[in-house]
Amino acid sequence: MILDSFSLKGKVAIVTGSNTGLGQGICRAYAEAGAKVVGVSRRPSTETEQLIGSENFYNVIADLSSCDVIPEVIEKTLARYGRIDILVNNAGIIKRQDSIEFSEENWDSVLNVNLKTVFFLTQAVAKQFIKQGGGGKIINIASMLSYQGGIRVPSYTASKSAIKGITMTLANEWASKGINVNAIAPGYMATNNTQQLRQDEERSADILARIPAGRWGTPADLEGAAVFLASSASDYVNGFTLAVDGGWLGR
Ligand code: NAP
Repeated sequence: MILDSFSLKGKVAIVTGSNTGLGQGICRAYAEAGAKVVGVSRRPSTETEQLIGSENFYNVIADLSSCDVIPEVIEKTLARYGRIDILVNNAGIIKRQDSIEFSEENWDSVLNVNLKTVFFLTQAVAKQFIKQGGGGKIINIASMLSYQGGIRVPSYTASKSAIKGITMTLANEWASKGINVNAIAPGYMATNNTQQLRQDEERSADILARIPAGRWGTPADLEGAAVFLASSASDYVNGFTLAVDGGWLGR
């Protein structure tokens, strides 16, 4: 049955940024597809745990602005569920400031969470995949700003363009080991990340007018792509960034 190849039964997934927004939606979808989910968040993922139930969800509290937490994330996941099959690098931040005044703090903080920790967490999980044998799935959360420049968000654009790039690099190196590395580029989604934009009436109306689907996306809109890229249905998909954007990029 083709639908069986989308099942995540028996799989263990790590999802970063599990307490809210797109990460919370991905955790819920993975649990529904049969996976045990380890949510990594700097604040407790209490709501996510309530949605899923404590048998299939385990919360690791970690601040991903530093790579120091990576060994603990891996160790706690293995202690709880014994293996890792899927990693979703979802946690991310954005800083808005005119580029002419953009601060080093706004540059470093975004690059640390959105790129540096993503790379080294991915490396640590890939080592575990290789140790286990049998490959694994990495899904990076990219952005429309993996393709476009954006306005007043230079560090975010740098990080998300780089995410698309390293998704291809890692796929080139690891596809032969059965490790699929892909990304999802969400369009404009109604989460905390876009709260400031949606509050700006002019920018919000401009954005909405350009989305062919005629609405902002929701966490639920991302779930199908996230399950597909985590499942054996995508075993021959490597290094690709899949836009889930209501048609934004085609415009
Ligand atoms: P969100 O609601 O702001 O979620 C971001 C998540 O990342 C939160 O769980 C946040 O935790 C976590 N996070 C941030 N810094 C962290 C740190 N230092 N350590 C641990 N966790 C940290 O926004 P979202 O829209 O769901 O964003 C999820 C991903 O999608 C991000 O990578 C974002 O760039 C990307 N994205 C979003 C959109 C969109 O339109 N919303 C579009 C394209 C891409 P806290 O709640 O504690 O801050």
